[in-house]
Amino acid sequence: MHLSAAVALLICNNCQEVEERSAPEVMQVLSQEIKQADFIVHSKVIEIHGVCAKCAVTMAEQY
Ligand SMILES: [Zn+2]
Repeated sequence: MHLSAAVALLICNNCQEVEERSAPEVMQVLSQEIKQADFIVHSKVIEIHGVCAKCAVTMAEQY
């Protein structure tokens, strides 16, 4: 499994929908930190858990 793409996964905790956003700048910063720690990376995936825009609207309507 080769994960070279610099993506962040936005995962909705409500509907489980996953949106992929490219995040090359974030990954570049992380890579520098990882290098300094002499850490060997097997996979690079940023997972961000939360509520998607659609669910946020639905939730707002409920209150
Ligand atoms: Zn959602």
